[in-house]
Amino acid sequence: SPTAATTARVIPPAPARIGCPLADVDTPALLLDLDVMDANIAQVHGRAQRAGVRVRPHAKAHKCAAVAQRQIAAGAQGVCCQKLGEAEALAAAGITDILVTNELVGMAKARRAAQLAGRIRLAVCADHPLQVQQLADATREAGTCLDVLVELDVGQGRCGVTSASAAVALAQAIAAAAPGLRFAGLHAYHGGAQHLRSPTERQAAIAGAVVRAREAVAALAAAGLPCPTVTGAGTGTYALEAASGVYTELQPGSYVLMDVDYAANTLAEDSAPLGHALFGWCSVISLRPGQAVLDGGLKAFGVDAGLPRVLHPGWQVKGISDEHTVIVSTGADAAPLAVGDKLRLIPGHCDPTVNLHDWLVAIRGETVEAVWPVDARGAMF
Ligand code: PLP
Ligand code: MN
Repeated sequence: SPTAATTARVIPPAPARIGCPLADVDTPALLLDLDVMDANIAQVHGRAQRAGVRVRPHAKAHKCAAVAQRQIAAGAQGVCCQKLGEAEALAAAGITDILVTNELVGMAKARRAAQLAGRIRLAVCADHPLQVQQLADATREAGTCLDVLVELDVGQGRCGVTSASAAVALAQAIAAAAPGLRFAGLHAYHGGAQHLRSPTERQAAIAGAVVRAREAVAALAAAGLPCPTVTGAGTGTYALEAASGVYTELQPGSYVLMDVDYAANTLAEDSAPLGHALFGWCSVISLRPGQAVLDGGLKAFGVDAGLPRVLHPGWQVKGISDEHTVIVSTGADAAPLAVGDKLRLIPGHCDPTVNLHDWLVAIRGETVEAVWPVDARGAMF
């Protein structure tokens, strides 16, 4: 008999129809400005191409197959996911080359990975022999082949082996599990460097990462293990890894959308700013002198990296609660507002914001061009 676990979730209707004017998009919604997104993609992919490195954008930012397809059409090798469930959702929506930039533990996940590897080109990370053993058992059972990268800690202090010799030992274990597993290279992402505000701080952090990655590549080569891929980098540092001579692949995610937190980074002199392409879209539902209340709160905006920024001259966000955001005027010259007016807000942090929404309303100028499902929304296992 059916249980809660087998009952499909009903996805609420989309907040907009294709071709409708922006003013008719219901709220709260998430807008994606396609002209800005396309310019961001062109800028980052162009820079990678000129440096001779591949781009594999991180889909944890947008969780949307339609966005991934645009990145791939603009030269991306494939995408990254953080969770196996994200990879399954994007694969079901047609993405065929995915790197899960994370460790998988337990036979349940190992079996799902082995199954997925039978349908798409899949790679995952490992930093411990147990993960390798489980993946080897699962691919043997399934008769499939999975790429495994050794995750190397290059300064973040989170996952990853912490020495070149440990990287070699794990790579040998992976290679020994052929033909089910294939040693595919190093995952060397320095997350702690991405939001260091000054270019010199980011440069120093990535210089350290490059040293560790180079050491590990050399140790692998000395052990007879070629390292076809060294992958890492995010929106804050990708130009540095691109120029390193060691990294072969970049995995920035936020660049396509941009948020308040990333806009607070000071850019290096040789870098142009990326544009904000992602906006919350909210209505004024209540008004009093100097204060307006919007119909999206913590369930519409991820605020771990700061409050959203409202785009209405002379107004700023004062506070946010579950379903409301309160904005206040900052002076007598504040632009007028009326109940029912709709406003854009730039999210503080794009990834957790997107994960709160079922739909991305893709606009070109002031017209809805497409409405895309957030295919991997909520995927956490
Ligand atoms: N790679 C990994 C492993 C990540 O965890 C992240 C983000 O957290 C990224 C790439 C993308 O970084 P960003 O969104 O800062 O560009
Ligand atoms: Mn993020």
